Amino acid sequence: MNFSHYTTKPVEMAVSLVNTEGIKEDSLSTVEQMTEFLDEYRDLWEGAAKPAKTSDLKAIHQLRSSLRELIGSDEEDLAAKRVNIMLAEYGATPRVSTHSGEPHLHFEPLDSSMVSWLGAVTSMGLASVIVEHGVERFGMCCSDSCRDVYIDTSRNKSRRHCSNTCSTREAVAAYRARKSEEA
Ligand SMILES: [Zn+2]
Ligand SMILES: [Zn+2]
Repeated sequence: MNFSHYTTKPVEMAVSLVNTEGIKEDSLSTVEQMTEFLDEYRDLWEGAAKPAKTSDLKAIHQLRSSLRELIGSDEEDLAAKRVNIMLAEYGATPRVSTHSGEPHLHFEPLDSSMVSWLGAVTSMGLASVIVEHGVERFGMCCSDSCRDVYIDTSRNKSRRHCSNTCSTREAVAAYRARKSEEA
């Protein structure tokens, strides 16, 4: 799948941000964990946003909930409405940047706080998925023991689980259930 400027790393970052909140544990519950998460995307934000502060944690949790709700949208109108609210809330503003030579568009506010940077970039990522590939690419894991989200990049949009771990576990469980019915 051919992803544009905002739909490779930013989409990956949006999905992994949502997935820090599992059923049993939250791997983004301390400032250390938040810093660790953001360090993985340092090349994206360094020079573009201020490093995260302790006081950002609550707002990042709110952003995470909004992203989960957005990915849970199963129709275009609703997804568009939700993403537009987020783009406005986090101050996404188009501007032409020449930092890498070729002029291209950026949407995160200039000199932004970590929260508005993260909000604008992840919302733009998901906005690009909606526009370029459609809302049916948004997915939530079908496993009862998992609430992870994913972007379905399969050719026939057939993905049902967040990961191979979940699809294998579910396939094994279904096989066992069939076997015990037969017995
Ligand atoms: Zn750029
Ligand atoms: Zn899963």
